[in-house]
Amino acid sequence: MKFYGDYHTHTRRSDGRQSEEQIIVAALGRGLKEVAITDHGPLAAVIGVKNPEVYLQTKERVKNLQPLYPDLTILVGAEANIRDLDGNLDVPSAILDQLDIVIAGLHPYTLPTSFQDGVGIFVQNSLRHLSQAQREKAITANTQAIIAAIYANPQIDIISHPGLFFAVDIEEVAQACVKQGVLFEINCAHEHPDVSDIMVAERVGVDFIINSDAHFTDTVGDLRYGSDIVAQLDIDLGRIVNGLDGGGHTRWAKKHATYTF
Ligand SMILES: [Zn+2]
Ligand SMILES: [Zn+2]
Repeated sequence: MKFYGDYHTHTRRSDGRQSEEQIIVAALGRGLKEVAITDHGPLAAVIGVKNPEVYLQTKERVKNLQPLYPDLTILVGAEANIRDLDGNLDVPSAILDQLDIVIAGLHPYTLPTSFQDGVGIFVQNSLRHLSQAQREKAITANTQAIIAAIYANPQIDIISHPGLFFAVDIEEVAQACVKQGVLFEINCAHEHPDVSDIMVAERVGVDFIINSDAHFTDTVGDLRYGSDIVAQLDIDLGRIVNGLDGGGHTRWAKKHATYTF
């Protein structure tokens, strides 16, 4: 399938290895009409932006670059970290309100985890050290964190790579996405979720967005992992919001929301 845009990329201001200009040129090279620059929230040690004001500086820079690239709409967003079981994000609401696209996700090494009943948010790799009962509790906690974020932050457009790093109940996350009009991401850099989880989400009725999560210029707009699975599962292309016929972010981004579910 062909795509209108790629809505998840990182610059050097978080853990990407590229500038805004390099992302823009790469997106044009892929024939995209839109691209979003979405650096990691500040709570992610080492990989995050220095502070939330960095997003506003990126906006300024993009405002100056935009006139040079009339064939591409350049958007500025964030990939905010979900920081606790209440679904709080590490980018203040006042800044999220000024961004074009808001992605939220769970990332390792970012969480001053809040413990409730002795259960916090658990990274996938540590699950193998847990008993079956503890595993189930951990999955419940991780799922709760994402669902709480979806309900607590009406700005969220996209949940990034659901289930990556932190095991979750995909069906419950997908249901919350459907209820709150949040897109379920198929993430091509991490090749995640896998086919079986995408099948579950599809059955629940989510709308998908396929993103590159590019940290390097050569993967901006590389959406093959997602488009291959969509073809393999024969998913209705109308369910992929960033397909070429989709008309771009004004159709589905909350801030511009004309999108109806
Ligand atoms: Zn991520
Ligand atoms: Zn990312």
